[in-house]
Amino acid sequence: MSCSAPLVDAFNRRISYLRLSVTDRCDLRCTYCMPEMMTFLPKKDVLSLEELHKLGLAFIERGITKIRLTGGEPLVRRDMIELIRALGRKLGDGLEELTLTTNGTRLEQFAENIAEAGVKRVNVSLDTMDGELFQQLSRRDRLVQVLQGIAAAKEAGLRVKINTVALKGLNEEEIPYLVEWAHANGHDLTLIEVMPLGEVEGERVDHYMPLTAIRDRLEAMWTLEDVEDRTGGPARYVRIRETGGGRLGFITPLTNNFCASCNRIRVTATGELYACLGGAEKVDLRAALRSDTPDERLGLALDEAMRIKPERHHFRIEQGAGPAQQRHMSVTGG
Ligand code: SAM
Ligand code: SF4
Repeated sequence: MSCSAPLVDAFNRRISYLRLSVTDRCDLRCTYCMPEMMTFLPKKDVLSLEELHKLGLAFIERGITKIRLTGGEPLVRRDMIELIRALGRKLGDGLEELTLTTNGTRLEQFAENIAEAGVKRVNVSLDTMDGELFQQLSRRDRLVQVLQGIAAAKEAGLRVKINTVALKGLNEEEIPYLVEWAHANGHDLTLIEVMPLGEVEGERVDHYMPLTAIRDRLEAMWTLEDVEDRTGGPARYVRIRETGGGRLGFITPLTNNFCASCNRIRVTATGELYACLGGAEKVDLRAALRSDTPDERLGLALDEAMRIKPERHHFRIEQGAGPAQQRHMSVTGG
């Protein structure tokens, strides 16, 4: 197979979207994501800036048109802006979109640099606007910084999409308010169902909130109009007339499996390519990168990834079921 052949998996899905984790470390400790005493990957195993850049270029060569930088918290990595700048140079030259997902705590500091590098939109995770609940959910007191980060991103000309994990008994009542606030400020908002990935303290099932129930509630309040808009990810969108026509997305890995149209692969900060967020199938890109024939080995590893990408994920979230994968979302890259 030629080294520039597009990435197409065994189910004939064209893979065009890479989620690249640049670190598994984070300055928050969201309770549904990781335990307080999280064990992080040894720093020596993490890919260097040059290696991440080289990987990005290799993926673009194979037809990846969209890269989302994520983590862990991408903005805690010291050389992050350099990576954004380096990959940003490929925009319009194979790469159509470069984005990142961030918890927003350091966005105020970096928003302008991110925009200058060619990034047009960022996803910022925000589960609540209540300072106490924010501290309870993230185990850190950083709501003010996140809100300042979101404002700075808007000021820098970045489009901001808010990501909110819906949590039963925690932020479920606040969701309509979050949607109104986001739309009033010109941001789309996407709701996410909590996924059983990695051990955390407590049972995720206690706070699992199916989005079908949230949608029913919102439909009783507002007019939700299905829209065909897609942003290349798994979200399905509606527009809400009463909030000014802003978009609300639903990511439903539990209640409505979206695997048939999957166009994504994920690479961890140590160069493990996971063919599916919910699966264990992987190939080692770091070994390929550090071999004597990196280009050839990378090409073969990507071909292998296409062979092993599973048809779909199988999540069960119920009392005592345990995580579907031991890997936390902060490792695979959200
Ligand atoms: N730290 C950044 C952030 O929080 O935006 C990027 C990485 S984080 C893993 C990416 C997204 O995954 C966030 O929106 C977060 O809320 C979500 N997330 C983390 N663990 C999750 C889980 N177990 N189920 C569903 N979403 C999860
Ligand atoms: Fe950090 Fe994001 Fe996980 Fe929260 S969801 S602990 S911000 S990686």
